[in-house]
Amino acid sequence: MADISPFSLPGKFYRGNIHTHSTLSDGLLKPVEVVNAYKAAGYDFLMLSEHFIKIFDWPIADTTPYRREDFTTLIGVELHAPETSVGELWHIIAAGLPLDFAPCGENETGPELARRAARAGAFIGIAHPAWSQLTIEDGNSIDVAHAVEIYNHGCAVETDRGDGFYMLDQMLNSGKRLTAFATDDAHFSNFSLDAFGGWVNVKSENLDPDALLDALKKGHYYSSQGPQIHSISIEELYLNIECSPVDTIAVAGGTSRTARAHGRSITEASIDLSQLRLGFTLADPSPWLRVTIIDNEGKKAWSNPIWLDEIK
Ligand SMILES: [Zn+2]
Ligand SMILES: [Zn+2]
Repeated sequence: MADISPFSLPGKFYRGNIHTHSTLSDGLLKPVEVVNAYKAAGYDFLMLSEHFIKIFDWPIADTTPYRREDFTTLIGVELHAPETSVGELWHIIAAGLPLDFAPCGENETGPELARRAARAGAFIGIAHPAWSQLTIEDGNSIDVAHAVEIYNHGCAVETDRGDGFYMLDQMLNSGKRLTAFATDDAHFSNFSLDAFGGWVNVKSENLDPDALLDALKKGHYYSSQGPQIHSISIEELYLNIECSPVDTIAVAGGTSRTARAHGRSITEASIDLSQLRLGFTLADPSPWLRVTIIDNEGKKAWSNPIWLDEIK
């Protein structure tokens, strides 16, 4: 039997949100108020990802004064530069930047800006693909991306465009080994409905910002709206999942074939992956899989993609 990371790794899961705005850009609450709101909601870490753009004077929130023994922050921004295929500015999350990261150059494009942020040490995430109407070609052009924002709670609440899996799954099918992160993108507008709806649980041995950043880059996390994934392991053709009580445990890969278990408040399943090879599909078995669990309120948690050739 092979245990799948990050569940098998030492340490514990730390809950964090890496996409949120304050009055330093277009959010409604001051930085300290945003930090306090997330602390009160039980988060372990937060990143204020202000819109890094001239109209807000290129803000990079210095949240280091808010770090405590039991709560920390990452430094980063939401990058903007021309131009996606629908002719809009890029929105790219860069987590783990120096406070003196230079403003965008006059002719710097989104992919170039993402590369500069990655060279500076950042975790690069392609933000809200559906809200931005990004194409797969747009996604592939961000060639230093670590991850796709597969759930953006603010976009989901505001206009039902919170999804990013359409893009991630096709990029995985093109061979890109990206991970899947959920965020709030909270501005504390819309009656604050845009807060506390999607986050990452990062496995780390401690709450050190550098350790969290390293874990994000390595994909040692999963995303959630509430449910918890405790373990995933693989034993021959069975994928074993342990989790908080849910009604659906589903496994998807790069074709229409899925494998799943349903029940009322089930906390484990041993899913027969041979289901992924049955049916009408003409395609080869997918080289990657991912797990979604759904509780009785419709809240979900999502594993990162599991590449079968990486299982030891
Ligand atoms: Zn955005
Ligand atoms: Zn945003």
